[in-house]
Amino acid sequence: MSSVSLASSAAASVPRTLTVLGATGSIGMSTLDVVRRHPGRFRVYALTAGSRARELAALCQEFRPAFAVMADPDAAAELRHLLAALPAAERPATEVLSGERGLCAVAADPAADTVMAAIVGAAGLSPTLAAVRAGKRVLLANKEALVMSGRLFMDAVVASGAELLPIDSEHNAIFQCLPPERVRNLPGAGVTRILLTASGGPFREHSAEQLRSVSPAEACRHPNWSMGQKISVDSATLMNKGLEMIEACWLFNTTPDRIEVHVHPESIIHSMVEYVDGSVLAQLGSPDMRTPIANGLAWPERIDAGVAPLDLFSLGRMHFERPDHERFPCLRLAALAFETGGTAPAVLNAANEVAVEAFLEGRLGFADIPVVIEQTLAKTPVLPADDFATIFAKDAEARRRAREQIERLTV
Ligand code: NAD
Ligand code: MG
Repeated sequence: MSSVSLASSAAASVPRTLTVLGATGSIGMSTLDVVRRHPGRFRVYALTAGSRARELAALCQEFRPAFAVMADPDAAAELRHLLAALPAAERPATEVLSGERGLCAVAADPAADTVMAAIVGAAGLSPTLAAVRAGKRVLLANKEALVMSGRLFMDAVVASGAELLPIDSEHNAIFQCLPPERVRNLPGAGVTRILLTASGGPFREHSAEQLRSVSPAEACRHPNWSMGQKISVDSATLMNKGLEMIEACWLFNTTPDRIEVHVHPESIIHSMVEYVDGSVLAQLGSPDMRTPIANGLAWPERIDAGVAPLDLFSLGRMHFERPDHERFPCLRLAALAFETGGTAPAVLNAANEVAVEAFLEGRLGFADIPVVIEQTLAKTPVLPADDFATIFAKDAEARRRAREQIERLTV
């Protein structure tokens, strides 16, 4: 049995070699911030991004990775150009790759032992899976990958012996509250329920009427967490909690009836585990993703994450309430998709991505996001999720149907 030790932050004798998928994003930058604090402990092997070449060029200059990958080929050309234009003394010996093939190549590269999976959305599935199949320590932030392909993804983890560590703050909290050898055997651990906390998002107190007219800027202004745009909107609709419920079912081998969502607006308790003897274990901390990231990077040791200590005296109180399924139907839609099984969660995820994008671009009202998802789920026949090809085909089909729904709603 491995046990969690509260070790000093002294550098491990052999540094971990790290690839960060989605390095320019909110999670990617927080990961590199933790890495920066422990120069002897981590070596950055590869960094990837979607299309922001300038931002990745700056990171390449600082971390001097062997590889950099831009998903977009034009952005890869720009990155090559930016690096080549640097004075020789500052120019890193970084090879630039592009496209999904490049992302999967660095994710599976034997030279790295640890992969932070922090691409947003379905685009992260193939590279994350490549890291899993290569048996890496995979730090999973990209919850959409697991939601889409749950059983196949977890089967791949078991088959390769990959070490999957949850980075989503709630799942990392649950992981910390479980005995390490019983993470996927909750009855054996004496666990009765998981209490999944949710901030409630920026519109927790909005009426159904007010929700109709909220803007993308308001939806992205989360009260406690600073995050990418897509997950910010997901937090505002509560779809984030729906995706997280599915994520928890796969990670901890449980079912939605064993998970209860608690809206906790302060975001100090990151989730809890209830045991048969009446004990409830919680993980608390300032709402800062560097804590779960540092936990995953150093596990089973503990390292400084640069996070402000929790001050319970200034916090004073914590509050808890039940989620309102009427105003926020996404939670119910996610539970329904999980219970339906097969390709339904992949359809839910794809419809949500399309609807959120349309909302962010001002083409769809906030209150219509769940409508698009519900209609897409109703119109997309479910298949058994027996192979990845079927999942990708259903993802594409759901995107087409969701776009049709959006057109119908907005004419
Ligand atoms: P973000 O939008 O800030 O960053 C996304 C990253 O993915 C960027 O580096 C971007 O360049 C890259 N990317 C985007 N599209 C891509 C594509 N098609 N191909 C390759 N790369 C692409 O997102 P984020 O907030 O950092 O979230 C990343 C993931 O982590 C999401 O799955 C999110 O649900 C999860 N997560 C985030 C937080 C948070 O606090 N931000 C917390 C928990 C979980
Ligand atoms: Mg979360």
